[in-house]
Amino acid sequence: MTVDKATNNRKAAAMSGSAKQEGPSCLWDSITKAAFVMGSGILLLAAFGNSLTWHLQRFWGASGDFWQNLWTRLYLQYEGQHAVLFYLGTMLAPLLAFWITNGLFLLVDVTGRPSFITRYRVQADKNSPVDQQKLWHAIRQVVFNQVVVSGPMVVGVYYLMTWRGDPCGPQLPTFHRGLMELALCSVVEELLFYYSHRLFHHPALYKHIHKQHHEWTAPIGVVSIYAHPLEHVLSNMLPAVSGPVLLGSHLVTTSLWYCLALVSTTISHCGYHLPFLPSPEFHDFHHLKFNQCFGVLGVLDRLHGTDGKFRETKQYERHALLTNLTPLSESIPDPPKKLQ
Ligand SMILES: [Zn+2]
Ligand SMILES: [Zn+2]
Repeated sequence: MTVDKATNNRKAAAMSGSAKQEGPSCLWDSITKAAFVMGSGILLLAAFGNSLTWHLQRFWGASGDFWQNLWTRLYLQYEGQHAVLFYLGTMLAPLLAFWITNGLFLLVDVTGRPSFITRYRVQADKNSPVDQQKLWHAIRQVVFNQVVVSGPMVVGVYYLMTWRGDPCGPQLPTFHRGLMELALCSVVEELLFYYSHRLFHHPALYKHIHKQHHEWTAPIGVVSIYAHPLEHVLSNMLPAVSGPVLLGSHLVTTSLWYCLALVSTTISHCGYHLPFLPSPEFHDFHHLKFNQCFGVLGVLDRLHGTDGKFRETKQYERHALLTNLTPLSESIPDPPKKLQ
């Protein structure tokens, strides 16, 4: 009886604790913190933005003519065939970026070499070596999604974008505009990805659709677009293509954004926390625990409290840019396993 009572008291305390943590006060706290961070960011940008972008523009200006000349040559070569040019820029370039990055990661996944890289594994005991049958199954689905789903969708996106004007105009966007559009595209992606992703975690949708992506509890790069075709359309493609459509972006900005988005999702799934590359801990934790860390940037997870458990873990302590060569699993080791 006493033991039961003590356990119940502990449970009640834990529950009230978690209620306190996830209640409206925490949400309000998150909103004020986010507003403070964003407000400070805007103030800083207003204060230093002009001079910062002026210096960057000067740096860009030296090579700007080079890029404009290159674009003019392409533009003249594809005169009257802008749909073809758009298709090459939004399909071929991102496909190359995806497969070159993933080719390198796959070499490490399949061979387990070089050991210099495998030391940086996020989930130390996983995918060593990777299950080849499971890998081929994933690659087949990835190629299907890219060719059969993304291929026609990009054609649709072209016609949608031409309503706002020719995305293949003769003049390249300015450096400032390109930079601003890339930032806005990542905000649009965060919004659409977070909510569509959470929707796919609804039990009714999860078991038929999103479960496929979660077969990999320890993900590897190529798994980033291993998903049910419907999920690929709504949760992978739509968040990425919406930004350039809404902004009426130039083909070059659109192509660059697709490449960046694909390389970034590859890194967040790659399973290695490598020096000087963005941290993959956040999305890796989502694959490990399923009900945490739904977004890309983490802002909406903070606002909705869906990163609460993540923030109490070692993975959260490791979730930063690694600026030296010591693997974070060594500098921030896991606590010793409790003896049963
Ligand atoms: Zn994933
Ligand atoms: Zn998920």
